[in-house]
This record gives sequence, structure tokens and C-alpha cells, in this order.
Amino acid sequence: MVKFFDGLSRRDFLKLCGTVAATVGLSDLFTVEQVAAALKSAAKKPPVIWLEGQDCAGCTISFLTIEDPTPASLILDKISLRYHESVMAASGYMSEKALEDTIKEGGYVLIVEGSIPDADDRFCMVGGRPFREILQETARKAKAIIAVGACATYGGIPRGTPTKGAPASAVLPGKTIINLPTCPVHMDHVVGTILYFLVTKKAPPLDKLNRPLMYFGMSVHENCRRRAHFDNDEYLTDWNDPKQKDWCLLEKGCKGPETYSDCPIRRWNSGINFCIDSGAPCQGCSEPGFYTEQSPLYAMGTVTDRILAKKAAGLIPRKDNA
Ligand code: SF4
Repeated sequence: MVKFFDGLSRRDFLKLCGTVAATVGLSDLFTVEQVAAALKSAAKKPPVIWLEGQDCAGCTISFLTIEDPTPASLILDKISLRYHESVMAASGYMSEKALEDTIKEGGYVLIVEGSIPDADDRFCMVGGRPFREILQETARKAKAIIAVGACATYGGIPRGTPTKGAPASAVLPGKTIINLPTCPVHMDHVVGTILYFLVTKKAPPLDKLNRPLMYFGMSVHENCRRRAHFDNDEYLTDWNDPKQKDWCLLEKGCKGPETYSDCPIRRWNSGINFCIDSGAPCQGCSEPGFYTEQSPLYAMGTVTDRILAKKAAGLIPRKDNA
């Protein structure tokens, strides 16, 4: 009998492909056979370079939360992660050599985590070289470039610091960069985007911020389970009042109506929960304004005023009328 990945039979392999596609939200887009064909060719291990600039490594940690064994980890086992400062066993000159060799080879997927200092290159040096230079050199021969997390996509938290963190797009003009924001990145978004690329050899359809529509094509508010309370003007003001437990978090600073992401459907930590369902307002981490323009995070501010004005003007219709 022909064996596929890790000794799986064809039947089990196809079953697994169906599960993978459903897990990362691709089952409406591709057939199981298409996913299977892509994964079989991925057995050649497409090389991946993961660069970290000004970051907290939160996206790396999110990426590593893949539980083993899972369908997702099976895919990733088949990807050759050639360079990742936090994960690779090599260090010093050996690690830099791994990067150089992979760049020479070309045709890799480049994942960028963290922002790039705009004020002075010395704020982020790796192996004695400016991170900006390393990123530009690595991007030249990349087959696909994926920016992960709020810092690489929009500048993120470093944007508001003296380093003036810039997004990957600012230092790679003319390159198509697939943006996977949120803070941190959702690992389903990473796996799904790589899988989409393996199946089609191109980027998924993107919105105006270069985010895949399959993950960022709907607002958090659209799918929020507190939505009926928003429609009825029932806003939580006291977390200690049991009556208000499930009420809308707008007055606690929720940015859900202006935030585009599938968090309420996909949820986090293997689908266990997400911010709003655990009682915390959405902070808009998939949007360019995170977190500077979105502040204050746990109170009403200009974003809340804007949302209330839109609601008053009938621009946010009730869910039953939507
Ligand atoms: Fe949910 Fe926030 Fe919208 Fe309220 S404002 S319904 S908490 S997304």
C-alpha cells in the first residue's frame, strides 16, 4: 500500500487534508484533492525563512502553540524552516550561514515578524548588520512574503517608541506583502495562507490593507454574540453586576465595529475563547490604528464616539435588519 506523510494510508491522508482545510478555513475554497496534491508536493519541503525585527516574539510563541500531533503540525513538519532566530538550534556564524545559503538558493517563503526602526538602523542590528538591510536582501529572492503580527504589518507598538517602528511594506517598496495582523498573529492564519500559496502558487484575495479576505473580510462586531445588546443599547458599565455579564462592551472601549477579523468564529487557543467572550473589549489589533489611535483601551474614546455617531446615523444596522 502506498504510504503518505508519516506512514499514513491514502484514505487517512485525504481525511487529514479535509480536516486541515476545515481547520484553517479553506474548505469552501479548495477540494480535499487539491489540498492533498499541494501537501504531497510540499513533501519537497519548501524553505521558509522567519526573520524577527523589533518584536516581543509573541507571534513566534503563537506559532509554536501548535499542539503536537495536529494536522497543522503535520503541514509544518513538511516545511523546511531554515532560519528562525528563536527556534533554530544553530547560533552565531552557523545560523548566519544557514540564512546565506537559503538566500542563494532562492524560492523560499519569507515570514517577517516585528517592525523595522525608522529613526536609526542601530536600534535593531542582527549579527552586526542592520535588520533593514537583512530584510531587503532576503526579500529579493523570496517567492512569497508574509508579514505577521501588528508590528510587521503596521509598525505596531514600536511605532510609538523612539525607534519609530515601520512596517515591512515601508522598506520593501514594490513587493507584494501578505499582511496577517492581530497581536499576536493567529497560527491558523499563517498555516492557511501558506497552504493557500502551496495550492495556488499565488497570494489569496486581499483587502485594501493586503489582508486575506478569507480571514479579515468581516468585522468582529458582525459575528459578536453580544451584538443583540449593542442593538438594544445595553452597554456593560460594571463588570461586577451579574445582570450585565453578557452586555455589549462598547462603553468599556470595544473597537469591534471598526475591526476586521474572524476572531469570533475562529477564536483563539485552539478555538477555546477570544477577547470579547472572556469579558475583554476588542482592542482592534488587526487594524492600523492599534494601539495608539485605539487608546484608551478599556474606556470610551474617539473610536467609541465615532461608532456611536455611525450608529445614530443608521450606518450600523441592527443584526436582524443587516
Ligand atoms: Fe460585540 Fe464590541 Fe460590537 Fe459590543 S461593540 S457587540 S462587544 S463587537
